This record gives sequence, C-alpha cells and structure tokens, in this order.
Amino acid sequence: MIQTTATGGPPPQSGGPVDQAFIDDLVLASHILAEQGVLDGYGHCSVRHPHAKDRYFLSASLSPAVIAASDIMEYDLDSAPVDQRGRKMFLERFIHGEIYKARPEVNAVVHSHSPTVIPFSVSTVPLQPICHMSAFLGGGVPNFEIHDAAQITDLLIRDNYLGRSLAHSLGRYDVCLMRGHGSVAVGADIMTAVYRAVYTEVNARLQAQAIALGGQIRFLAQGEYELIENRTDKNYERPWRMWKERVRKP
Ligand SMILES: [Zn+2]
Repeated sequence: MIQTTATGGPPPQSGGPVDQAFIDDLVLASHILAEQGVLDGYGHCSVRHPHAKDRYFLSASLSPAVIAASDIMEYDLDSAPVDQRGRKMFLERFIHGEIYKARPEVNAVVHSHSPTVIPFSVSTVPLQPICHMSAFLGGGVPNFEIHDAAQITDLLIRDNYLGRSLAHSLGRYDVCLMRGHGSVAVGADIMTAVYRAVYTEVNARLQAQAIALGGQIRFLAQGEYELIENRTDKNYERPWRMWKERVRKP
C-alpha cells in the first residue's frame, strides 16, 4: 500500500541518513529530561536534521522515559511524517516544525509541562533570572496566550496555525511560557536546549522559594545576564556528559 499524508499527497522525502550517535543523543535527551522532572508522561524534545534544514526528528507518541532509537521519526517542517509505519504521532508536533521554520539558527526544541514553571504562566509575577545558571532568561520571558490566537481551545498545539502563533510569541527568545500548559525551550544544539529546559525549571523553583521568604528579591541585573550569556566559555558539556552517564543503560 502506498503511504499518503493527511492531505492525500505522497509523504515527504527523507533528508538522508544520520549517524546513530546523533539519534542516540536525542533518545538520551528525552531520558535526561524525564529523570530531571522536566518531562513527565508527556512532553517531547526534537532535533533538526543535521544535513537537511527542512526536516527534524521527534519520537513517536510515547512517554519520554521509555523511548528507544527505533521510536524516532523524521518529519518535514509542516510536521508530516516521512515514514510513519503505523506509529502514533504527538498531537503537538506542530510546535517543533513551526519553531524550526521561524528560527533558522535553532536546531533543538524541548516542549514540557514542567510543574514549577506553569504557575508563572498564569500569574502576573514574571519569571526572571535568579542565578547565574539561568542568565538565558534575562530580558524577559514571553508567555503564549492561546486564547489570543484561537479563543476557546483545549490549550494543545494541535495544528500548524497554533504552532506558528506560539513561534511568533517565542520570537527571538530562548524560552516561551504557554499559559496554563507549559513552556518551550530552544537551542542551537540539543545539549543547549536540554540545559535551558532543566534550568528554566530550576529557576522557577528557586524564584518561588525566594518569593516565599518574603522581602525584596534581587534578580540578575541586565549587565550581569548579558555578560554571562555573551561568554564564549559556557560549559554546558559538563552537566550534559554527567546527565548522559546517569541515564545510559548498562
Ligand atoms: Zn503540551
């Protein structure tokens, strides 16, 4: 039987083979994000195809902690699958395709419902960088209000229009909250996107703790977060290697 897309056309062509280590890193990223409490039974992370800017990889619709390399699927930027083979797809895959369209320099996307971040998506209290590890939150964190895009919804990004609306809210930032739902974190590579997703959750926890203490909170000043973010010796490799070792199966 010839496979067709939802629109009846042939499926998109593959962007070509990639190294097994590249796919393994995507699998490990999902396991890391589950272990860190950023992804639970839901949420997902993706990477852009390293040799084809208009393709990306994302697992079939499974909990991030249990995915294996054989669950990784390839999509075009409209989020049509190259080779579905009956596998169930994430309803919210359009988040990834539309961000890759809007942000050519972004090569990895994490979408999570990490629990400490969500209160900041429904509150007037802005998420702000509270320590040097989360300087990437400096300059403001946008909040996607889905009601502005489509009024009453189930809050899920179920199509390309909603994905495009979310990508518009993300703009040039590294993280975007999604009101009453979760957040997205992006990066030039999967290591950076995972780091940002983990430390967005950490920052939200620390900020809530600082608020609970009462008194004034002194967040990173503009000069501080800009200095940290402009450093060329940021060592994301150190936690990335540790996280990978922790989740690697013997
Ligand atoms: Zn979601």
